[in-house]
Amino acid sequence: MELPFAESYKIKMVETIRRSTRKEREVWLKEAYNNLFNLRSEYVYIDLLTDSGTGAMSDKQWSEMMVGDESYAGASSYLKMKAVIKELFGFNDFLPTHQGRAAENVLFSLLVKNGDIVPGNSHFDTTKGHIEFRHAHAVDCTIDEAFHPTQYHPFKGNLDLNKLEAVLKNNPIEKVPFIVVTLTCNSSGGQPVSMQNLKEVYGMAKKYGTRVIFDSARFAENAYFIKIREDGFQAKTIKEIVKEMYTYADAMTMSSKKDAIVNMGGFIGFSDRKMYEEASVYNIMFEGFVTYGGMSGRDMNALTQGLLEGTEFDYLETRIKQVEYLGESLKRFGVPLLEPFGGHAIFLDAKRFLPEIPKEEYIAQTLAVEIYLEGGVRGVEIGTLLADRDPETRENRYPEMELVRLALPRRVYTNSHMDYIAATVANVFERRNDITKGLKILKEAPIMRHFTVELERV
Ligand SMILES: *Cc1c(COP(=O)(O)O)cnc(C)c1O
Repeated sequence: MELPFAESYKIKMVETIRRSTRKEREVWLKEAYNNLFNLRSEYVYIDLLTDSGTGAMSDKQWSEMMVGDESYAGASSYLKMKAVIKELFGFNDFLPTHQGRAAENVLFSLLVKNGDIVPGNSHFDTTKGHIEFRHAHAVDCTIDEAFHPTQYHPFKGNLDLNKLEAVLKNNPIEKVPFIVVTLTCNSSGGQPVSMQNLKEVYGMAKKYGTRVIFDSARFAENAYFIKIREDGFQAKTIKEIVKEMYTYADAMTMSSKKDAIVNMGGFIGFSDRKMYEEASVYNIMFEGFVTYGGMSGRDMNALTQGLLEGTEFDYLETRIKQVEYLGESLKRFGVPLLEPFGGHAIFLDAKRFLPEIPKEEYIAQTLAVEIYLEGGVRGVEIGTLLADRDPETRENRYPEMELVRLALPRRVYTNSHMDYIAATVANVFERRNDITKGLKILKEAPIMRHFTVELERV
């Protein structure tokens, strides 16, 4: 018979997690005011809050930690990271930062000015935050297919070239410091961008005289999808695909907490020496000297090793097949999902899941809370709470889609855990008609309310 697919690693170290009873969870949830961010992690059995900084490092990464060079300047850890960034992305220069948003802070301090316009594909929230904080505007140019939860498109993260060209044509080009391309597109569901699209976006940027910056947190997962779905790439290695992708970028910001499989870290890569030199000033001010930035030597070592492992096909295949496995299991139970599945998470379509709940009662949060109560599984709301209030009218902003994201940490859970998650969600789905009431807000912060909001049952 044909041998089944199985993971490309085995387990060397384990961490205990504890199951709880529904009764216990009811108490804990009440104490947390129905906000899953307020739960202690020990009250969670399977934690799918995020795939950021939650991965399991390999034996090789841990051994790299031991040989980190903690010299203030010119550390070998820095030089090793520089060599691997050059090898993978083709960039001669880089600056280490403590995480992805720090990379944005440093680079955008140099490039983004009051009144600027930054087009891109569904900017990530910290990216958008760093643009808007500087009184500039983020313009979403993602293709329309991305906003239809069930419509198939192999590259739902693609930019719509007509939308992009309209922005470039209708604004003075000096007001558009760069185009940001997010790989994979987190905000539209971990959806990839095709090589063809990267090439066309870069061509258009050069035609109009601006830059392209890749927001690179899940660049390796993006390369995997190019290899699997795009003509002409099946025979190429992930590393070859990555190298080609970055010929269409002038710079990159990286949150290494995702595809570099470390718990903390980030960097900026540059093709232009002058831009690197100018950004160095901000790095020294905000992060640290140019050869360590926000990182210790051991962390740069683990990150460097993580970049090499994160771009191995076998690892990526294991990871993305696990996401698929969870998605297919849920689909068999009839659970409404966003499709095609993204690289790092499964998104539950809460509007179709709980059609009885009015949008004023936080549909996706209600679903996330029910899933926690059912099985101790923690996902995250991507809906009205996250969308927050309009800064002017202070009215709730109701997004097109109400989603619960189940993000899978890298190399952490087994497929038995996936079966448990699927059964938990399926049980909630089976009793969906009994869930007729949602939540109301007791207390909220004026900005980024989803982290601290307090809610009660209607
Ligand atoms: C996580 C993420 C960031 C921000 O990185 P942090 O390390 O969390 O600061 C930026 N862009 C994308 C696409 C991300 O996923």
